[in-house]
Amino acid sequence: MKDETVTIDGSMGEGGGQILRTSLALSMIMGRPLKMERIRAGRKKSGLQRQHLVALKAAQEISAATVQGAEIGSSEIHFAPGRVTGGTYKFSIGSAGSVTLVLQTVLPALMLAGESSHLTLEGGTHNPWAPPVDFLERVFLPVLNRMGPMVTSSLERYGFYPAGGGCLHVNIEPVRELARIDLSERGQIRESKATAIVACLPESIGLREVSFVKDKLDLDGLHVAVNQVVSPGPGNVLFIEIVCDGITEMITSFGKRGVASETVAMDAVKEARHFIASGAPVGPYLADQLLIPMTLAKGGSFRTCQLTQHTLTNIDVIKRFIDVNIEVSPIDDKIWHIEIG
Ligand code: AMP
Repeated sequence: MKDETVTIDGSMGEGGGQILRTSLALSMIMGRPLKMERIRAGRKKSGLQRQHLVALKAAQEISAATVQGAEIGSSEIHFAPGRVTGGTYKFSIGSAGSVTLVLQTVLPALMLAGESSHLTLEGGTHNPWAPPVDFLERVFLPVLNRMGPMVTSSLERYGFYPAGGGCLHVNIEPVRELARIDLSERGQIRESKATAIVACLPESIGLREVSFVKDKLDLDGLHVAVNQVVSPGPGNVLFIEIVCDGITEMITSFGKRGVASETVAMDAVKEARHFIASGAPVGPYLADQLLIPMTLAKGGSFRTCQLTQHTLTNIDVIKRFIDVNIEVSPIDDKIWHIEIG
């Protein structure tokens, strides 16, 4: 049934952009045409927005696909992929749309391509509702690279929401097959760090955030740092990085105009406490992001501290393309075990 079109209803489950990205990624890898209807019907501004359109065009470019419906606001697309070819590509979103989400669309296919790739991605590098580049580098890529490929990134310029204007370079050395990994233990916490990043804003914002974390988060030896960075527009983000034996987790909280630095820090502290108390190795965001690589590896498992709608919906979308068994079972009231294949 390889050439049979897969029809996906974009309003299913979580109803957002991830359904589109996962569908495009798997359409390219499985070589199966995709028809997607009711795109992002679950979002206030439904249909393809700029970032989604760039993701679609990026997928089209790397797989020489035939595409219909590639327009802003479009609620239906037809995507028929050809052969995926690695190479040197530049994808410019031209807004603060997330570069990491465009990468999420093309990376699964490029890490299994016949050639290496060098990507330049321009847009937002630090946006709410998307993996910040720091999360990509410290959390996601180290786990992915354990499965075989060698994917590295380097940030040329920060781009915060709403101004954007950031730039990220990504190198992808592909593999023929991904290796299975199992992430059931996180081991001891080896290191922890609270880092505030500020661009075009007073350093005091970052200082207040990290000192609040130091005060409220009960973690021995927590390092703190404030980095003032250059970016086309203002921005502030706070990270709490928890380095464990087997894995690293990174909690993110974005500064917003009119929201006190202490409130921004408190949100991150609450998430960090939840992760630490659970004992699970995988946080809520990494969980949904591991599903595609583990499915492509024909197996894998992990334990997570939160079962999100993104994770559940991603499982449903993956199953539409690939005949795979993905089982979700509670271990206790704080941990879920996800077994793939
Ligand atoms: P969607 O809302 O459908 O566009 O999907 C958002 C994607 O961004 C999901 O893969 C999330 O795991 C990821 N994401 C959102 N916020 C974060 C965060 N703070 N850290 C890491 N990943 C994130």
